Amino acid sequence: MAPNLDVEWIHGTKSGRPGDEPLLQVHQVDERTFILRQSKNVSYEAPFLHLLIGDRSALLLDTGAVGPVELNPIRATVDQLLAAHPGRRLIVAHTHSHGDHVAGDHQFSNRPDTTVVGRELEAVQQFFGFTDWPNDVVTLDLGGRELEVLAIPGHHRTHIAVYDPQTGFLLTGDTVYPGRLYAFDYPEFMRSVDRLAAFAEDRDVSQLVGSHIEMTTVPGKDYPLGARYQPDEPPLQLEPAALQRLRQRSLALAGKIGKHTFDELIIYNSPGKVMMIREMLRGRLYRIGSRSSPPRNGSASGS
Ligand SMILES: [Zn+2]
Repeated sequence: MAPNLDVEWIHGTKSGRPGDEPLLQVHQVDERTFILRQSKNVSYEAPFLHLLIGDRSALLLDTGAVGPVELNPIRATVDQLLAAHPGRRLIVAHTHSHGDHVAGDHQFSNRPDTTVVGRELEAVQQFFGFTDWPNDVVTLDLGGRELEVLAIPGHHRTHIAVYDPQTGFLLTGDTVYPGRLYAFDYPEFMRSVDRLAAFAEDRDVSQLVGSHIEMTTVPGKDYPLGARYQPDEPPLQLEPAALQRLRQRSLALAGKIGKHTFDELIIYNSPGKVMMIREMLRGRLYRIGSRSSPPRNGSASGS
């Protein structure tokens, strides 16, 4: 079964009420691969989570931006998906340890045959077996499905990327996606993108699949931070060439602190407090504006 990314993602509703769209959307990519999206009606982050199933183990990469089970049924959803593939050990790991990627972890703490990888750098290095972080590439064998894992710090010190030869997907978390790439440690980010791009050149990467969508379908235009309704999103996936473009751009932006907008994504070189406050204010103005204006298509529920 060829990987299927033909999907319309949930993207929030004008009402903003949890339950007016699924709390978690499940998209089946192939028999043993799923992408889940959390509803914008429960968190504006609306992250994407990945479930990869092998012959012996399954990997859940990220657990969502909100924790309570009534808003984030991640455990029940994963249990249901794995019911068709019994006998697998479950590994719960993270692209990185920011709060919008780990909030559902606690739901797995008492699950049998389950490992929840810790959030600290040492725990990540130890679980995956890194001995020369961030330079070595390690493997995680799910049984007949050998993933490759790279360290790509810069956005966050624990950030990893996962390459899945079965789908050709390179899972890039918050480091590469159609949105605002916050390179908090810019030199580290630049080196990570460079290593990731070199890695991808030697692999059969079909798509870059990140953790959020923040751009609109208008090149260079993003939904402001905190937007809870995004009816005009581009696809989640980026073509592999986007990584090579990001590599060139990030090298060229060395030392150029600030916001740099490109058609498919935006790079924030060393965003400080002032820059983040500006983004938050822009988001707040957008939300006030969208509340006071009448719904564009006259429907109350939007999507
Ligand atoms: Zn993050």
